[in-house]
Amino acid sequence: MDCLFCKIAAGEIPSAKVYEDDKVLAFKDIEPQAPFHVLIIPKEHIASAGEINSDNSGIVAHIFEVTAALAKEHNLTDGFRLVTNCGVQAGQTVQHLHFHMLAGRNLGWPPG
Ligand code: AMP
Ligand code: ZN
Repeated sequence: MDCLFCKIAAGEIPSAKVYEDDKVLAFKDIEPQAPFHVLIIPKEHIASAGEINSDNSGIVAHIFEVTAALAKEHNLTDGFRLVTNCGVQAGQTVQHLHFHMLAGRNLGWPPG
């Protein structure tokens, strides 16, 4: 399958890894929008949050556990944002589920 994040998960395309286990990979976004901007992805190909179901939802819980651990490890005591874009109007550009973890500056709300 011609999927950028599947290739990154398989190590076929390099990434700046910050965490890896058998199910997920976290790596620095190539175009950071905050001092800390990490993408957390399942190694399994899931196209978007719109494709989560009772068979694959366990990975979402695991990603949230990894996120909390990364926040502690990187001392993000002033907070962070975890967001996933799903579909055209949300601005999803890579069709493989990914969570943006952003921190290190004041983040506006609502998003533009
Ligand atoms: P989204 O627009 O929500 O689909 O997010 C896709 C993100 O992937 C963007 O923030 C891009 O900067 C990021 N991105 C694209 N290619 C790479 C890459 N090779 N390594 C790291 N991040 C990437
Ligand atoms: Zn994929």
